[in-house]
Amino acid sequence: MQCYCGSLLKYQQCCEPFITGQQHAQTPEQLMRSRFSAYCARQVDYIFQTYHPYQQDHNSKQDIASFAASSHFVKLEIISSSGQTELPRTKPTPDSELQLASAGYVEFVVSYLQGGKLHQFSEVSRFLPLVTSAISSLESSSAKGISADPLPINSTNRSTAEPCWQWRYIDGVLSNRPSKSIGRNDACPCGSGKKFKQCLVHQSAH
Ligand SMILES: [Zn+2]
Ligand SMILES: [Zn+2]
Repeated sequence: MQCYCGSLLKYQQCCEPFITGQQHAQTPEQLMRSRFSAYCARQVDYIFQTYHPYQQDHNSKQDIASFAASSHFVKLEIISSSGQTELPRTKPTPDSELQLASAGYVEFVVSYLQGGKLHQFSEVSRFLPLVTSAISSLESSSAKGISADPLPINSTNRSTAEPCWQWRYIDGVLSNRPSKSIGRNDACPCGSGKKFKQCLVHQSAH
């Protein structure tokens, strides 16, 4: 299956390893893409976990789940990535969280269907590196060697999660575009080249 994020890669080789916790996104764009794919795959926990902790109070899992359930995402277009695009190379210390880390930005356009209409919004999202020692249960059992973790867990001490830098989504500047009706004979907004009525994965959702 092709990844939801439009990369043309297989889901298993693109966003899934991030969503299942086998790898950490190394760039803001990877995190952005994987959060979009998580909306498509309705992986609410991942969307919640990849919010910066400052935002988790304002974005409950319930809110995320109801938006994901009422919307059918059809397309992601990345316009640009800017700012810091790699995680800090310094080894995190307990004080690192107090240091001002540089933000990364990703500008994108999302298309989704809701209530039988096509909606689009563009956003410039801001991402911040965060020091965390949170290690998901899947990660410790994943095959070593494919991990993109900048600080691999010491093989003699796997039960201790060492702190590492990870990207988190903090906020964004959003602009909504006018929604429009979509007819059965219109081109599917996903860009498949099929008519909407023939693009079953998207048409059957509404
Ligand atoms: Zn992807
Ligand atoms: Zn389609």
